[in-house]
Amino acid sequence: MVEAHIRGVRNAVATGWGVLERDGSALDAVEEAVVIMEDDETFDAGRGSFLNRDGKVQLDALIMDGATLRAGGVGCVERLRNPVRAARKILSESPHVYFVSEGAERFAAEHGIPLCKNEDLIIPREVVRLREYQAEANPHGGELFASSPDDMTISHDTVGAVALDRDGNIAAATSTGGTLNKAPGRLGDSSLIGCGCYANNESAAVSTTGWGEPIMKLVLAKWTADRITAGNLPAWAAQEAMNYLKQRVNGHGGIIVLDAHGHFGIAHNTPRMAWAYRSMQKEEAGIARRD
Ligand code: ASP
Repeated sequence: MVEAHIRGVRNAVATGWGVLERDGSALDAVEEAVVIMEDDETFDAGRGSFLNRDGKVQLDALIMDGATLRAGGVGCVERLRNPVRAARKILSESPHVYFVSEGAERFAAEHGIPLCKNEDLIIPREVVRLREYQAEANPHGGELFASSPDDMTISHDTVGAVALDRDGNIAAATSTGGTLNKAPGRLGDSSLIGCGCYANNESAAVSTTGWGEPIMKLVLAKWTADRITAGNLPAWAAQEAMNYLKQRVNGHGGIIVLDAHGHFGIAHNTPRMAWAYRSMQKEEAGIARRD
C-alpha cells in the first residue's frame, strides 16, 4: 500500500495546486484535493473506507475557511461518495455548521449532490478486513491505534489537506470513514471543529489523523493552532502536538499544519503517514517518520 498512498497524496497535491494556480481559493483547493483522496480507494475516506461493526461505511468530513471562520461538517453519512462536497455546501449555503446522518444526506440532495447506495462505497478488501478483524474477536481491545500502532493492516488513513492562496487566506479539510469496526453512530475527531480540522488566518490551518477519541479529548487541531498564535512555527507545533497526544492520552496519529505566511509542519508518531506538499520553491512527498 506504500506506493499507492504516496501516489494518492501526490495526486491530491497536484489537483489542489492546479486550483491555486488558476487563482482559486485555498478553500476550493482543499476541497478538490480531498475529493481526489475520497475517490481513491487506497484511503479511509469515501469509497474504500473501513467498515463499521454492521458492515456499513459511515463517513465524516469537515471543511473550514480561515478567512471567515465559516465551516461545514457532516457526520455519519452513508450515501455520499464525497462527503467533503456536502460539507462545502453547508459552509457556503447554510446558516448551520453541522449536519448528521439522514439530515445531512437530505441537505446534500437538496443542494444538487447525488446520493449513492451504501454498497457503492464498500469494496471487497474492506469486507475481508472486517470479517478477519471480527473473527479475531477484537484482539486489540478496541483501542485500534493505541494498543497496536505497528499493525498497519488496521490503519489506512483519514485524508486531509491544508492550503494557502494568493490572497493570503488559509483553509483546511478532513474526511474519513473512521475506525475499523466502529460502533454505528460513532463520530470521530475528523469532522469536529478544532479536533480533526481547524482553520483561522490568525493562527493556522490544521488537519489530523489517528485514533479519534484521544484527539477529540485534547481538541488537538485548535490546541496546535493556539501554539502558532503564541508565536511558534508550525513545524515545532506539529511535533509538539504529537508529543502532547502521546504523553497526555497515549494517542497515536499524525498532523499537517500551515500558517498564513506559508510556514508548515508535518508530524506523526505512527510508523508511517503519507504526506505531500508543493510550494513555489519545492515539491516533496513521503511516508516514513523523519525523526
Ligand atoms: N481520526 C479518524 C477517526 O477516529 C481515524 C483516522 O484518522 O484514521 O475517525
